[in-house]
Amino acid sequence: MSSHEVFEPAFEVIQKIEEAGGEAYIVGGAVRDYLSGRPVNDIDIATSEKPERIQEIFEKVIPVGIEHGTVIVRHRSVSYEVTTYRVEEGYEDYRHPDEVTFVQDITLDLARRDFTINAIAMSRDGRLIDPYHGHDAIRNKRIEAVGEPSERFHEDPLRMMRAVRFASQLSFKIEERTEEALNHLSPLLQHISIERIAVEMEKIFGGSNYALGLQLLQSTGLKNHLPILKDLDIHRNVPYSLILGWHEIIAFYVLQYPHLTAENFMKSWKLSKDTKKKTEQLLHAYRKYENEKNVTAWLIYQLEEELFPSFSRLVSALHRVDKISGEVLTEAKKQLPIHNKRELTFQARDLLQLFTDLPKGPWISEWMDKIEYHVVTEEIENDYEKIKEWVREWNPPARN
Ligand code: ATP
Ligand code: MG
Repeated sequence: MSSHEVFEPAFEVIQKIEEAGGEAYIVGGAVRDYLSGRPVNDIDIATSEKPERIQEIFEKVIPVGIEHGTVIVRHRSVSYEVTTYRVEEGYEDYRHPDEVTFVQDITLDLARRDFTINAIAMSRDGRLIDPYHGHDAIRNKRIEAVGEPSERFHEDPLRMMRAVRFASQLSFKIEERTEEALNHLSPLLQHISIERIAVEMEKIFGGSNYALGLQLLQSTGLKNHLPILKDLDIHRNVPYSLILGWHEIIAFYVLQYPHLTAENFMKSWKLSKDTKKKTEQLLHAYRKYENEKNVTAWLIYQLEEELFPSFSRLVSALHRVDKISGEVLTEAKKQLPIHNKRELTFQARDLLQLFTDLPKGPWISEWMDKIEYHVVTEEIENDYEKIKEWVREWNPPARN
């Protein structure tokens, strides 16, 4: 087994809690990913101590969810979610437990967790507390509920999406009884808010075994409760994982199914403004590419570099060509004469100086757009005098 190096700073946090008389363990996804040889991202810590006590022990503590027992401890510039051992009761509304009760025993805390692979705690010396044999489940690549699967899915139906999500990310098989419960209980998903479902859905699409994830959505019936996707043949034509998120997913389907609109997707999945902006940009670039059968300088100029990988994946998926790699686009972007309006040597004030008799109006931005376009496409050099010359040759803008 590889070393615990990635956990060292987290162990220091644990040590501080122990020195103050408490108990603490690394729990959840970090332990799971570590034991399965995957890169460890966020490290969560469970502790016997109440949030108020954690606030006393550490200097930098951000109270993010005190009523649920969670605070963020900053240590060596890294954030750790530190949560008091707790059990949850109620779940009357299928959403949140009615009551959170703090407890003193880590094994009780592990019992409330969704799957055995996520219910392992690791102590500061690397010892595992693994009452549900989650380590075996990881070795056998198996996703199984902690306790009675149907009970656990009744408590929180989102767990069904999470099971599929872990299958997609880890390429694990869902254990038989857990899968059976999933098949029976998938309609319960309708009680879950679309925002929570969207988080898991994005991770399913981004998993290295997305094919398995999408197939499970179908076979379990969960798909029937997913807006828009429920009417599509979702796993046909997905030739790669849609890694970068919703904008890529939406563009992918909208381009293949002409009756779909990005707008509808955004609305029914309640996605963010940021996703909307990225989706529109990506679709705009793609359609331009389709029309011109070419990646023009103007397209590269308009498309944010962050979206290059999505763009190149879309092109290879829908055109079955591989020639437009993200790197090629990045290189082409570097070669552009300018990268934004501010880099133009000729600005709006220069334009106004040239036409002092004209009142301010929309013509200014129209002309600036024109200058920008012609500089980007290298029809005119980005040189003050040259642009000035060139603008002079135009007909004076209409007066209004
Ligand atoms: P990721 O690497 O994607 O963050 P994760 O396993 O850490 O995966 P989180 O959503 O961050 O997932 O949750 C952290 C831990 O909290 C899980 O490993 C699990 O033990 C527990 N958990 C999260 N959501 C639920 C849930 N709906 N029901 C029961 N336990 C949950
Ligand atoms: Mg996590």
